[in-house]
Amino acid sequence: MRRLFTVLMTALLAAALLTGCGSGEKTAPAQKGDKIQIVTTYSILYDIVKNIGGDRVEIHSLAPVGSNPHEYDPLPLDIQKTTDADVVFYNGLNLEAGNSWFEKLLHTAGKSEEDGTVFRLSEGVKPKYLTSKGHEGEEDPHAWLDIRNGIQYAKNARDALVQIDPKHADIYKANAEKYIAELEALHQEAVTEFSKIPKEKRFLVTSEGAFKYFSDAYDFQAGYIWEINAENQGTPQQVKQIVDLIRSKEVASLFIETSIDPRSMEMVSKETGIPIGGTLFTDSLGKPGEEGDSYIKMMKWNISVILDNLK
Ligand SMILES: [Zn+2]
Repeated sequence: MRRLFTVLMTALLAAALLTGCGSGEKTAPAQKGDKIQIVTTYSILYDIVKNIGGDRVEIHSLAPVGSNPHEYDPLPLDIQKTTDADVVFYNGLNLEAGNSWFEKLLHTAGKSEEDGTVFRLSEGVKPKYLTSKGHEGEEDPHAWLDIRNGIQYAKNARDALVQIDPKHADIYKANAEKYIAELEALHQEAVTEFSKIPKEKRFLVTSEGAFKYFSDAYDFQAGYIWEINAENQGTPQQVKQIVDLIRSKEVASLFIETSIDPRSMEMVSKETGIPIGGTLFTDSLGKPGEEGDSYIKMMKWNISVILDNLK
């Protein structure tokens, strides 16, 4: 009996030691992991940051794939993740401005650029401005559609991660070097491929006017139904304007976007008799495992769809 008691006490003591001391010293860091916890505002930034951070980072992206990051309603999980994040990356240039959703989220999560936990990935990009009524002078956010700006985003992500996690600077620098080389090659490919389209045919009509930076980089002209995703999309006045513009040009094909309701463009197509030739990625990647599920793949997809339709 005494022996059994001793055995029991020893077992209990051992268990107490394991749970008690163990949790204090070992399980705390192991449970949290030593990965950098990151939040990005939408899927394209998710992918760029993932390419630089690799296995060192764990990323939660706010606006889901296929959705519109101009306006987003953060869920309780988003607020939790943003509060817990080591760092938050956003595009800026007026992208996450609809309803001030992002500003409110940062406020709720207690994060700010001043305390070094929030980084604008478009830092250093030369902004282009909106011109349509009610938006005059506002910045156009779609800088990433010029791959040279995508390279700038990658450099900014690298510098931010080096700053936050200097112990692993070599990893971020090596990942960035490799990724930027790929982006440089892709930019060259885009220039070469688009030069196969006669200049007078390089007219791109989309629902949202997301192709300002793109047009500048690859020598296109761009038309749109509305200039930026906001409250008034596809009003009769906007539809009439683009229909008139299309009739005054030689337009081979119209395009819709994966993250935008196609009905307005379908109306324009019906009105003008010009077919919708394809779907482009603008504000979102494709779903994981499907077409365009990385920044590089979405740009490659866009290049080939535009080429097929306008060449
Ligand atoms: Zn957009």
